[in-house]
Amino acid sequence: MTTEAHRAREGVNGWWAVDALAPGVWRIAEPGHVASFLVEGDRRAALIDTGMGIHPIRPVVSSLTDRPVVVVNTHHHFDHVGGNAEFDEIVIHAAGADRLAAGASLDLVPRYLPYAEAAAAAFTAYEAADRTWFHQLTDDRRVRPLPPGLAASWNIRPTRATGTVVDGDEIDLGGRALRVIEGPGHSSDGIVLELAGERILFGGDTVNTGPTYACTPDSDVAVLAGSLERLASMADRFDLVACCHWLVTVVGPEMLRSQAKGIRDVAEGRADLTPAVDCLGVAVREARFDGYSVLVPA
Ligand SMILES: [Zn+2]
Ligand SMILES: [Zn+2]
Repeated sequence: MTTEAHRAREGVNGWWAVDALAPGVWRIAEPGHVASFLVEGDRRAALIDTGMGIHPIRPVVSSLTDRPVVVVNTHHHFDHVGGNAEFDEIVIHAAGADRLAAGASLDLVPRYLPYAEAAAAAFTAYEAADRTWFHQLTDDRRVRPLPPGLAASWNIRPTRATGTVVDGDEIDLGGRALRVIEGPGHSSDGIVLELAGERILFGGDTVNTGPTYACTPDSDVAVLAGSLERLASMADRFDLVACCHWLVTVVGPEMLRSQAKGIRDVAEGRADLTPAVDCLGVAVREARFDGYSVLVPA
């Protein structure tokens, strides 16, 4: 890697963590916040989500591929569209295009700041214990503290989709393609993306480790259970499921089966729920399972 490319990947204060999941497939993580993914075909590359918009993502992408880039948003939430304005071509589910253009989620940014600051502070103690005792943390799992003064400067601009997709559509990249699978429940415009024939699934916020949010105004836990049951029925097609949040962002297909059962149990009232708070400071109830949890409205 050239020094310039290395600098682009490190970003300001080592913000980004970039690694290859497969040939021409990269995870572009903002650890502790969100992960985006880049898939390079012969003709063009797809950037699956554009991150937080805290630091520019385009230089990172340009250090990895020289192909034209199409952004594919897994849904319209602010933490997945922050860098959209850096790109010309943007695809989202048909149900998300208006909300992307409206920028309706922008008020969430100031509410996220206290959560991210608390997480960074908690991580300091966690990291110290890890160094002494546990030795689990690698760079892609080191929570990035927010840059100073971010509250005044962080601005996620509304953007317009240049194309929309629905279930079954294929996004052809030349020699490889992303197949759209609708995955509503976390948000009504949620999609997951299958890298066709290559046994990789990109889960968006439909499949996550850590807390799975079925608690937003746009969420429906019964719908989410149905989405996970459909994905679980396809689990034999995947070796790797790439997720967007928390510190474990690559898991195996067994997570699909586990979540299908757990989220259905939550939807049908069979899970134990305890009071919790989500990343926007909203009171919720949480059902905990091995490797993930489910948040529903309080
Ligand atoms: Zn989301
Ligand atoms: Zn998210």
